[in-house]
Amino acid sequence: MFKDRLQKFLSGRNGMDELARFYSTAAVVLLIASLIFSALRLPVLAFVIELLALVCIVMSCIRIFSRSLEKCRRRNAGYLALRHRLSGWFVSRKAMFSQRREYRFFKCPKCRAVMRVPRGKGNIMIKCRCCGEEFKAKS
Ligand SMILES: [Zn+2]
Repeated sequence: MFKDRLQKFLSGRNGMDELARFYSTAAVVLLIASLIFSALRLPVLAFVIELLALVCIVMSCIRIFSRSLEKCRRRNAGYLALRHRLSGWFVSRKAMFSQRREYRFFKCPKCRAVMRVPRGKGNIMIKCRCCGEEFKAKS
């Protein structure tokens, strides 16, 4: 009986997607931060962070129980694209950092693509693989 009513209530709703999960995780992190700030006797900051956590919980619930599936799907796709771009940026920075002794990295002045050049080759002309732009650099 209750199970049927719950099933009926939940059918056709968005449910937990990645963006809702992000909001829920952010809410937990913010609540922990709020506890830390209130322990440090910073009640105003703790209150503001608590409000942010509440906003995250509300946003998460709105997403989970929303029936506008298309809108939710679009927002989730936007969130995933942003997350992918950010993680790609961090992965490339990590790779650049680990190769910094053997290579120098240059950004194309025209298209901003990043290129890797072996160190110690002196002044060289670099040709961008993406747009064909040539520029001088010291490796
Ligand atoms: Zn280029």
